[in-house]
Amino acid sequence: MNITKIFGSKVFDDAVMRARLPKSVYESLKRTRKEGTPLDENVAHVVAGAMKDWAVEMGATHYTHWFQPMTNITAGKHDAFLTPTDDGKVILEFSGKSLVKGEPDASSFPSGGLRATFEARGYTAWDPTSPAFVKDGTLYIPTAFCSYTGEALDTKTPLLHSMDVISDKAIEVLRLLGVNDVKRVIATVGAEQEYFLIDRSLYEKRLDLKLCGRTLFGARPPKGQELDDHYFGRIRLRVSKYMHDLDEELWSLGVTSKTKHNEVAPAQHELAPVFESANVACDHNQLIMETCKTVAKKNGLACLLHEKPFNYINGSGKHNNWSLSTDTGKNLLSPGKDPADNAVFLTFLCAVVEAVDEYGDLLRLAAASAGNDHRLGGFEAPPAIVSIFLGEQLTSLLQSIATGVNPDTVSRLILHTAAAALPDLPQDDSDRNRTSPFAFTGNKFEFRMVGSSQSIAYANIFLNTAVADVLSRYGQRLRNAADVSSEVRRIVHDVVAEHSRIIYNGNNYTEEWVERARKRGLPIMNTTCDAIPALISDKNITLFERHHVFSQAECFSRYDIMLDNYIHVLSIEAATMVEMARRTILPACIRYTAEMAKDAALIGEAGGIQAPVTDIVKELSGLIGKIKAGTSALEELNQNAGEDKSHYQTARYYCDIVVPAMQRLRECCDRAETIIASDAWPLPTYTDLIYRV
Ligand code: ADP
Ligand code: MG
Repeated sequence: MNITKIFGSKVFDDAVMRARLPKSVYESLKRTRKEGTPLDENVAHVVAGAMKDWAVEMGATHYTHWFQPMTNITAGKHDAFLTPTDDGKVILEFSGKSLVKGEPDASSFPSGGLRATFEARGYTAWDPTSPAFVKDGTLYIPTAFCSYTGEALDTKTPLLHSMDVISDKAIEVLRLLGVNDVKRVIATVGAEQEYFLIDRSLYEKRLDLKLCGRTLFGARPPKGQELDDHYFGRIRLRVSKYMHDLDEELWSLGVTSKTKHNEVAPAQHELAPVFESANVACDHNQLIMETCKTVAKKNGLACLLHEKPFNYINGSGKHNNWSLSTDTGKNLLSPGKDPADNAVFLTFLCAVVEAVDEYGDLLRLAAASAGNDHRLGGFEAPPAIVSIFLGEQLTSLLQSIATGVNPDTVSRLILHTAAAALPDLPQDDSDRNRTSPFAFTGNKFEFRMVGSSQSIAYANIFLNTAVADVLSRYGQRLRNAADVSSEVRRIVHDVVAEHSRIIYNGNNYTEEWVERARKRGLPIMNTTCDAIPALISDKNITLFERHHVFSQAECFSRYDIMLDNYIHVLSIEAATMVEMARRTILPACIRYTAEMAKDAALIGEAGGIQAPVTDIVKELSGLIGKIKAGTSALEELNQNAGEDKSHYQTARYYCDIVVPAMQRLRECCDRAETIIASDAWPLPTYTDLIYRV
């Protein structure tokens, strides 16, 4: 396989544009893509024609405005390029207007009450900063999705806004720090994706996996991840073939899939692309998730992106690596050779620390979902408490600047510790802490709470906006300061004085940290229900309105959509449990118990000892009673959920009442699984699922 040939072969990328567009059109489009300047209508028309010709050559018959409604996945309708002519034939047409704007019937996408169904028109607008590509005979055009009244109905629109905001505020600060040649600051993101692979035929046999993406039942397997023999281990042949196909497909779509390896849990793997602009990274992460699934299907496998497909072994997350980079190629979070003297680094580092302390509730929210509730705080992933890991050396550097101790000493210490090959901060120091939810890893921050099936959009919308907000305050301070370098030191001082509580370099997987975090007054939001209200707090609505990322109405609508999603996920899970328990597990238990009872009688007749068999019969009939009662109870709870309750109370009810009832039912069924003969158990077990690839 020739990577350079394959890479981007299905993408309308810069090289294709340069080759196919008139020079002036190409230059104008490039400016739009790089600097976010608006696109001229005539330019759009020429681009559309070239795009269509190219796509048709690539075998495309259709185009789609590809968008990201608030469902964590992507959507789009597919239109053929054809236009009928008078002579009964068709010609292939694609106008600038069709490229720039589409009008899907938007009534079935969540809007959180922003639109009534009868006026459900929405429109999609081309995002020229993310490249179009051809997939399965369709030209995919990345687009934003809005209502006709101007509200964003997707995740891309606010993400693009947040990127503009942080660019503006960062440029302002850079100018004040004496950096004048920057036209655009780009939020860069590399999202590492974890996933599980299981055999497709087994997947097909489990309703819970098919409907909910996770197992709702399943006894503990004899072997889990205790031996640590999967992490970075040899990649099995079938998985290797899968990863090969996956890479090939992703590369052709212009996704820089770079690293692949086995993860901690058996059957768990990871893929990491090279970082790029947050917007493109977000689109590409969606493509990665979709491609992971389709390639699995083609290989007789099923790819599980759920945050916790299996109890007893680790769940999956997504590490959102984030930094800021200038259009001149400088990483603003790079400490350089002398961090103590690096005003740009110190200012931007402080802005992140302050932003995460002030808006940690939003970061927590960005990782909140019914699925991720099983993972956060399970001592396998960061806790539900947001804190920052800076590493001992960087922390003491900030402290020494704050207290006025000669920072050169600390700076030299850092350089001394770093091997010559690692000119920046020693990587091992930053890498060692894998338990922190938000870790500084050399020249970027790694936000590790996001769930594996979630869009990374919110994480980056919130980060960009929060950091931009702090940067705009720093901008004011620096503008009013008599001396810029002493003001930077004062900023460091103030961050250390006021925001140190958010910095934690210890092990986040301990009870002790939870206790300390509580004493420090850090918000502890254990469940999605605790996290969602952050979206409508005055503090956060003000933040979003100040920077035109969300209006108050949009905050409320998204709050409703998040609650809705949470309620629906749990309601579907509860209904699936009822269905499986009643129609699959109970009948199997009854059949097997009856058989055992017959066997006991036969053993008795033959003069054998009946007691051990009757013991099994007794335990199983007890469980049958409990499973039956638990099923009816769960069904009733699920049916009564919406009654006399506000939207938020319904979500709380699922969290506090329905989830524990699901747990109780599961325990009985899992116990039955451990008693019943393997050939009589109707579902593939954990051992089948995680070891048969
Ligand atoms: P680590 O060992 O800390 O996990 P890696 O070098 O393996 O770091 O990178 C992990 C992810 O972080 C990759 O997707 C990588 O492209 C991304 N990354 C690296 N530098 C940056 C940056 N400046 N901004 C955003 N993401 C980055
Ligand atoms: Mg990493």
